[in-house]
Amino acid sequence: MVMMFDVTEAASARSEGDSWDITESVGATALGVAAERALETSQPDPLIRDEYAFLLVSAAGPPWTQLASSDLSWLGDDETARRMHLMSRDYQAVRTHYFDRYFAAAARAGIRQIVLLAAGLDSRAYRLDWPAGTVVYELDQPRVLDFKNRTLQAHGAVAKADRRTVAVDLRDDWPAALRHAGFDSAAPTAWLAEGLLCYLPADAQDRLFERITALSAPGSRLAVEAFHHDPQRATERRRAEWRDRTARMKAALDLNLDFEALTYDDPDRADAGEWLAAHGWHPDSVPGTEEMARLGRPVPADLLDVAVPSTLLRAHLNGASR
Ligand code: SAM
Repeated sequence: MVMMFDVTEAASARSEGDSWDITESVGATALGVAAERALETSQPDPLIRDEYAFLLVSAAGPPWTQLASSDLSWLGDDETARRMHLMSRDYQAVRTHYFDRYFAAAARAGIRQIVLLAAGLDSRAYRLDWPAGTVVYELDQPRVLDFKNRTLQAHGAVAKADRRTVAVDLRDDWPAALRHAGFDSAAPTAWLAEGLLCYLPADAQDRLFERITALSAPGSRLAVEAFHHDPQRATERRRAEWRDRTARMKAALDLNLDFEALTYDDPDRADAGEWLAAHGWHPDSVPGTEEMARLGRPVPADLLDVAVPSTLLRAHLNGASR
């Protein structure tokens, strides 16, 4: 499923303090991106391998199993839908690769404290080779983490680090919950906000960055996937086409979800790189589409206006080695 931003102007399905299970609201987006990782993993010569993605996604039921499957017959003969689905797979593969490399570099630099903000179905605690002594904190909503824990346990999955889940809402006082789980603000941390910022209102994004900064010892690192608000990007005709196509794709999967209504396309959202640079971080970023081209997964020219408008960014604090 292609989850886009800016392309439609659907009424928001969000409210202050809303919560969700894995197949509902923002919880389902964790299934959507993990399905793309499963799809990537199943193809020859994948850019990343996430052996946990298919088992996690398929535990959510038949429509999700179908979405994660390499059998694309559910798309019928809609060639554009097929190309969009594969573009989405390529994007997820590229962003996963970018952040996997980020963590490998952090581990090489001696960082042993990892925080996955909005971990969703991220299986990095299980699939990356963490040095001994690494602690991986996973923050997400309680029911999302419950589903993940139950499913991984049922499959006998064993984490390769000291994995600690923190069930919390990232709009609330999550630093207290993180500390309670053992987080040490005196030790350098590698943070990740992947697939999260667009689901937070602009002021909650600022608060998130403020809290990360306050908890970050010298030498800490932060990686984020940032999104741009650009309502002019696609023409009205393309938006209408897009709405029709996604409606058909959801009907084919029997999914009744409005992904477009889950994001906050706040025009006044701070630019992540500028915010971080103004608060002591040293960011380095690449547009998502550029990274896709670099890794041999370019966005087809005719789909550029509906590609995810993202920037992949990593930053370090206080002159840490990179
Ligand atoms: N980072 C994971 C990945 O890339 O696979 C998951 C990304 S998924 C698109 C978005 C995740 O953000 C979901 O797991 C959702 O539950 C979580 N999320 C969004 N807003 C949140 C909030 N306010 N508090 C806790 N979790 C949140």
